[in-house]
Amino acid sequence: MKISKVEIFDVQMPDGIAIPWHPVLVRVHTDEGLTGVGEVGLAYGIGHAAGAQAAREIAERFFIGADPMRREALWENVYRGSFWGQSANTHVLAGLSGIDTALWDIQGKALGVPCHQLLGGKTRDRLRTYASQLQLGWGDTYLQLGSAEDYGRSASAARAQGFTCVKVDPINMDAEGNRLDRHVTYFTRSQLDLFRDRMAAVREALGPEGEIILEVHSLTSGPAAVQLIEALEEFGIYYFEEPVSYTNSRMQSYVAGRTTIPLAAGERIFSRWGVRPYLEEQSLEVLQPDIGLVGGLTEAKKMCDYAHIYDVTVQVHVCGSPVATAASLHLEAAIPNFLIHEHHSHAMKAYNVELCDIDLQPRDGYFDVPDTPGLGISLNDDVLKRSPKLEVTA
Ligand code: MG
Repeated sequence: MKISKVEIFDVQMPDGIAIPWHPVLVRVHTDEGLTGVGEVGLAYGIGHAAGAQAAREIAERFFIGADPMRREALWENVYRGSFWGQSANTHVLAGLSGIDTALWDIQGKALGVPCHQLLGGKTRDRLRTYASQLQLGWGDTYLQLGSAEDYGRSASAARAQGFTCVKVDPINMDAEGNRLDRHVTYFTRSQLDLFRDRMAAVREALGPEGEIILEVHSLTSGPAAVQLIEALEEFGIYYFEEPVSYTNSRMQSYVAGRTTIPLAAGERIFSRWGVRPYLEEQSLEVLQPDIGLVGGLTEAKKMCDYAHIYDVTVQVHVCGSPVATAASLHLEAAIPNFLIHEHHSHAMKAYNVELCDIDLQPRDGYFDVPDTPGLGISLNDDVLKRSPKLEVTA
């Protein structure tokens, strides 16, 4: 079997939906008629088009004409032979991720088994799931919430669907719902009061039993992260995600040394080499690798196993199309150190659901592990034809 064609879709939003959301989807074809899908994990932030181009160039240079069953050798070829792979380069590893994950899908279909079986087999049948990013609303519409009452409503909507765990970034919006995407070195008393009101509303809606994940998207300095911990820990924090920037792993240690709340990070950590300082310094308890960024399922599985020797648990970072959700369910089903699955606010929206042939939504706060061969998901060509496509053929 040989790889005969790679298609890359740089997804554009439907007319009338002006939000920064651009999943990059990959479909790999073989000369035996099998296809597999993967995702380049750059749906948000800047760079989706560059990620699509990186996947195109990687496909052309390393994958066209290759045997898709020789996944490990192909991965290593790209890591070393791309030159930039060894710099933990965002776009090179993201581009590789989309193709690598598609090869797992092809292998599963070729062997007639689900990907979790290729990854070692199920360690569980159901995956506890949390409602992620309540500040963007929990419903059909993308929102940016300002008032504490709105945060409470968002948490109530998630609770009504059966979620007993939620994640919220209480600092990302000002009181009017405008985004504050800048570094914070110190919070004022009035800012802390607003964050406390939001967290109190979420706790009230969730009830005393549920778990709240605190997330700040690496926008706080170490001292500001400690200010937040002191202001918010009374609401019961399950774990604290991205308390500081990744550019200096010692800052994570600074926060870890000042709290008993478990720390989480990983959506901007690339590969085993990138996660090494955090594990060796024991400054995180929950690793959040993104299958669409670290180098696909091949690398994500290794990072999870590596984390396990430090008693670090895993919550795969999922912020993409339904393909990202499907890939994460297979990995999380197979690893012994799984903690909880992330279901993002974007994952419920029509503009995201329509990209694929199946709608992956949890029931009562849990996902069942999928049992169809490969990843068990396909792309919806009727929707994808509105987006630019890059194509590489033999
Ligand atoms: Mg995050």
